Amino acid sequence: MLTLDGSHGEGGGQILRTGLALSMVTGRPLHIDRIRAGRPKPGLMRQHLACVQAAVQVCGGQAEGAELGSQALQFTPGPVQAGDYAFAIAGAGSCLLVLQTVLPALMLAGAPSRVQLSGGTHNPMAPPFDFLQRAFAPLVRRLGVGLELTLRRRGFYPAGGGEVHAVIAPAAGPLAPFDLLDRGTRRSAWAEALVPGLARGIAVRELAALRQQLDWSEGDDPWRIPPARQNEGPGNALLAVLEHAEVTEVFCALGERGMPAEQVARQLAGEVRSFERSRGAVGPHLADQWMLPLALAVWRSGQRASYTAEAITPHASTNAQVIAQCLPVRIAMAPCAGATRIDIEKAASPA
Ligand code: ATP
Repeated sequence: MLTLDGSHGEGGGQILRTGLALSMVTGRPLHIDRIRAGRPKPGLMRQHLACVQAAVQVCGGQAEGAELGSQALQFTPGPVQAGDYAFAIAGAGSCLLVLQTVLPALMLAGAPSRVQLSGGTHNPMAPPFDFLQRAFAPLVRRLGVGLELTLRRRGFYPAGGGEVHAVIAPAAGPLAPFDLLDRGTRRSAWAEALVPGLARGIAVRELAALRQQLDWSEGDDPWRIPPARQNEGPGNALLAVLEHAEVTEVFCALGERGMPAEQVARQLAGEVRSFERSRGAVGPHLADQWMLPLALAVWRSGQRASYTAEAITPHASTNAQVIAQCLPVRIAMAPCAGATRIDIEKAASPA
């Protein structure tokens, strides 16, 4: 039995998602209480419930306490079944956090899966689609897993209605963990302002403000306003994509009603500059999300692997503790030359 305290560390939804993922992967039942005790409205919210329901479907599992507001959950996994799945979150809950929950199990399944996800694709406190597609998925593919993500339609708060398709093909051989200590030279940097259903002038102002704050000289057209797709929005996201030789990073700031375009740009510029100053290979969000696939590869292969990160957030340290509690791996984090180094190695048993 995996027993997790949902109030631990960050005390947010990540403990639940990592717990569900590792329960499915190890076949061990999960008991979690004090779910999201660190949040103003504790317990399962709609998007967390959608993660539990997706986990139940993917492995034919059983869940007790899977109700809105519930602060305790007992999850009993069955064998993971590759296949075709469709998961929908009404409203703008992040459908990408549902993908984060089921991906570890499906990438270790016996056959490929196709997953259709609908809900929010550009949400506060969740990975935006562009981040998963450009930053996260290429690293997962380097482990040997096939992971193709396609955006059909963006979904923003509060209407949602976005749609993403994921094709997940388990590795043909053993997973191949690798070190990511250096991001490598920068190949390009560009920004994109998404304003479906809103005035184009917002995008123009955001990009102008960003341009003043970022010293980007490379590339032909670093300031882009992509066309909206049908039925998208209204919503606003400002994205910065930094393509380096070893890794691509994506940063995102979301606009909201009443927030000036210049403020959205300032927030994004702050995140980009902080990454540019750091020597870490990955930014703070990739640091917490890369940990689980890499730990699975270390566990399965027995090889150790390391990476460096700009910063270790409470999300990342909480995730490290949950992973080490559920899998026989040791995760060490230590400062190193303008970054933090994360080392993962196999252990005799979970912590
Ligand atoms: P709650 O905090 O309400 O429990 P939650 O279930 O949405 O919320 P968190 O525990 O806050 O979850 O986890 C959110 C996840 O989204 C983390 O993995 C975090 O790194 C990721 N994330 C948040 N913002 C971004 C961003 N801009 N880019 C990439 N990933 C992000």
